[in-house]
Amino acid sequence: MSTHDRDQPFAENTRLIHAGRAPEKFGGAVNIPPFRASTVLFPTLAELDAYDPALRTVRYGRTGNPSSHAFEAAMTELEEGHAAVSYASGLQAITSSLLAFTRHGDHVLIADTAYAPTRNFANGILSRSGVTVEYFDPGIGAGITSLLRPTTKIVFLESPGSLTFEVQDVPAISAAVTAANADIVVMIDNTWAAGLLFKPLKHGVHVSIQSATKYVGGHSDASLGVAVCARQDHWLRLKKTAVELGACASADELFLGLRGLRSLPVRMRRHHESGLKVAQWLETRPEVTRVRHPALPACPGHDLWKRDFTGACGLFAFEMAPTPRKAMAAMVDGMAHFGMGYSWGGFESLILPSNPTSIRTAVSWTGGELVRLHIGLEDVDDLIADLDAGFARLKAALEA
Ligand SMILES: *Cc1c(COP(=O)(O)O)cnc(C)c1O
Repeated sequence: MSTHDRDQPFAENTRLIHAGRAPEKFGGAVNIPPFRASTVLFPTLAELDAYDPALRTVRYGRTGNPSSHAFEAAMTELEEGHAAVSYASGLQAITSSLLAFTRHGDHVLIADTAYAPTRNFANGILSRSGVTVEYFDPGIGAGITSLLRPTTKIVFLESPGSLTFEVQDVPAISAAVTAANADIVVMIDNTWAAGLLFKPLKHGVHVSIQSATKYVGGHSDASLGVAVCARQDHWLRLKKTAVELGACASADELFLGLRGLRSLPVRMRRHHESGLKVAQWLETRPEVTRVRHPALPACPGHDLWKRDFTGACGLFAFEMAPTPRKAMAAMVDGMAHFGMGYSWGGFESLILPSNPTSIRTAVSWTGGELVRLHIGLEDVDDLIADLDAGFARLKAALEA
C-alpha cells in the first residue's frame, strides 16, 4: 500500500495519527473525550445569534459538537475531501445523501452492485417520493451517458460491490457524467476501500460515503456513517438535510470511530495480506469454481482495481457448484474461527452464504453458489485450516 501525498510533508499513516485531534483543548488527553451534550448554554444573546454551521460553532448537541467535528475533520483528511457530515449509521449516510439532492420527478442511477439496504431505500421511500430509480450494469464505464436524462440528479456507485466485487471504472463514469451535465452529483459507497485504499474524490466523485461501522470502527461494536464532500455547496446541502432529518451520530460512536481510525492503515495491511493468501488458496480448491477478489485476475474489473486502488481489504467471495442447504450447513455450522453474521470490517473472520439473484436487476446473476468471507486478524494459517476442515465436512455431507 503506498501513501498518497496531499501536498503535505507527511505520509498518510502519519497524518491519520494526528487527524482531528486537539489535546490542548481537552486537558492534554490524547483522544478527544466523548462530548455528551444535548443542551449547550450561551452566556450572551450575541453568542446565541452568532451560530453558523459552516463555522463549526456549537448550538445544540445534535447539530454538531466537538466529537462530530473531530470525526468529520479526520474523515475529510482520510478521504482527501473538503468537509464531511457524520451519521448514526452508514445506511443513514446513504439515505440522507440520496434525499438531499432529489425531489419529486427526478431520476437517479444506481450501480447494480449497490448494497441491498441501499436498494431497499431507493425502491421504497425514494420511489414513493416520486423519484425514478434505475439500476445500471456496473461494467458500463463511460457508456453511462446513454442512460442520463434531463431529470437525472444522482449517479450512485458502489465499487467493488460488497457482495459480488465487480470493480467499476469510477474515473470514466464520473468524467463522462460531469461532462454531460455538471449538475449531476456523483456519489459512491466507499466502504470496501475504507477511504484508505481508494480516493474517489480525486477521481471526479463528489460525495464519498462510507459505513464507518466496518473498518474505521474496526471492532464490531460501533454504528457510524459519514459522507465526505469535495465541494462546499454539496456539503452545505448535506448538512442542512441532516439537520432537517434529525440525523446525527452519538458521541460514544464518534469516539470509537476516531479511536479505530488510528490503527486503520496497519489493520488494513494485515486484512490485505491474509485475505489475498486465503483467496489464492481457495483458487486451488476443487470445490471452488471462482474466487471474486479484486486483486485476482478472475474478478470482474481486476485491471481497474490495479489501476485505481492501493490495496484490498479482507472482504471477498468465492463460488461453488449449487450446494444443497444441508451440505452448506455442514460446512459453515462447524467453523472454529469464522463466525456467521452480517457486517464486516472487524478484527474477526466471518463467513456468509449469500444469493445475489434477487438483488440484481440490471444484469442477472449467473454465478454459482456464493459464499462471502471476511478475513480478520487471526493467524492466516489457522483460517485456512478452518476452511479446509469446512470443505471436508461439505464433502462428507454431499456423499452421505
Ligand atoms: C454495512 C454497509 C453499509 C451500511 O452500514 P451501516 O453502518 O450498517 O448502516 C453500507 N454500505 C455497505 C457496502 C455496507 O457493507
